[in-house]
Amino acid sequence: MVLFLRTLLMKNFNFKLLLLISLVLGSISSSEAQKVPDDQLKVFQNSDLSKYVFDLEKKAKTLAKNQDVLEKDVAYKLYSNALMRISGMINSGDFYINDEISEYLEGIIQKIDPDNNPETGIYRVLLSRSSIPNAFCVIDGTVIVNIGLIGLMESESQLAGVLAHEICHFKKNHSLQQVKATNENKKSGRRSYTSQYLSMKYSRESEYEADAGGLNLIAASPFNANEYSKALELVTGDGQDSTGFDVLKFFKTDAFKLDTSIVSAKEVKRVLRKSSKKENKTLLSGNDDMFESHPEGQKRQLAASEILSSINYVAPTTTLNSDVFLRFQRLARFEMVKNDYYRADYLQGFYNSLRLSELYPSDAFAKNMVVSNLFWLCNLKSAGVIDDLLSETELRNSTSMAQLKLIFADTPNDDLGKFLFTYLKKLWESDNTNETVLYYLASAADIHLGKETAKIHYKNYSSKFPDGIYISNVNEKLH
Ligand SMILES: [Zn+2]
Repeated sequence: MVLFLRTLLMKNFNFKLLLLISLVLGSISSSEAQKVPDDQLKVFQNSDLSKYVFDLEKKAKTLAKNQDVLEKDVAYKLYSNALMRISGMINSGDFYINDEISEYLEGIIQKIDPDNNPETGIYRVLLSRSSIPNAFCVIDGTVIVNIGLIGLMESESQLAGVLAHEICHFKKNHSLQQVKATNENKKSGRRSYTSQYLSMKYSRESEYEADAGGLNLIAASPFNANEYSKALELVTGDGQDSTGFDVLKFFKTDAFKLDTSIVSAKEVKRVLRKSSKKENKTLLSGNDDMFESHPEGQKRQLAASEILSSINYVAPTTTLNSDVFLRFQRLARFEMVKNDYYRADYLQGFYNSLRLSELYPSDAFAKNMVVSNLFWLCNLKSAGVIDDLLSETELRNSTSMAQLKLIFADTPNDDLGKFLFTYLKKLWESDNTNETVLYYLASAADIHLGKETAKIHYKNYSSKFPDGIYISNVNEKLH
């Protein structure tokens, strides 16, 4: 429950923050700020939930009856809590519903484990909107995959590898065993362990066991098991930015420089250490193992290649559905950025949109999202309320995220304001048809140079885009 409350508080917190900013600056209303151009993102519609409605009590009873790790009544409590909590998350819109990526994931699971029985095994896949690259299997047999995982994986076989790993945790009852072990260690026995019902940090042993089991499943499937190590490398990252993306490049171009000397290797390490100590991980982020395994990532990769050579593994020669995968991978990357922004998760959103912009340099949406997230970060900074946002953002042990955190925490307001203004001005000069850029340029002038200068840009906007999406805000500014 604590975790769930935290998720709620987080959403609430961001909402409050937005309101506060609107009040402080008297500028952009929160609803206006949420307007994201989404010309290529009309794929998902939440509508019919009937597929996800069933008798939770009955399901929990059946599951409790079919396991022999825990006492039946204890198991029943765990299952029914898990089912109820997931059901709550479905209703609050945490998952994509009836979408083609979920269907695609179901298909992959079918290929990995053709003997899977939905009555007793994996019975559903839920695709969450979180951009944190993670997947985990809940004790009841629900596989939760974050959209961020699909955006990070480079091939269908890598994605299949992560799913196979999760399936093995489920098949080997790792969650139930973990609950049992935790309970046996607690002498008092009074504290309920129903708070651990969803997913948890597994033991190192369980991780290796799930790697081995996952590899065996993949080796017997049409997917390429040689990709498994790469998936591990991408997800665990070992503290590096596993995508190889250099986020500091953005702040160092000739046109608009920012002093990034505050970002030293020592400081980055300190920030990462601090963030990994925090226990505020929400359900969809750091709960499962794929993350928690530092510093075991490299060892696990080595173990994986040992296993494959011991079974004389020969990879399949055909490539599966790579076009389908690439389409979903691209879609996922755009969805991640959109979700981050809707959740006012500007630091994560800024990172993901910068990366998107590098992957798809000519894409206007990517560029506009860089602008929007950057603007909001600078705006919060100038209003003196950025610390809360930065401390709430999960850095998931990525160097890039720690670097960004340092930049926005430690750069003086004026320098950041100047950087933002110069950046937008250059962008506008290079493309004077992008209304989002002009709108944020005016807003940046508002922060950095004051109302009178900003009016020049606001006037320019209203004459160039009289029917623009930001026109009501601009008119308010001019009158
Ligand atoms: Zn695991």
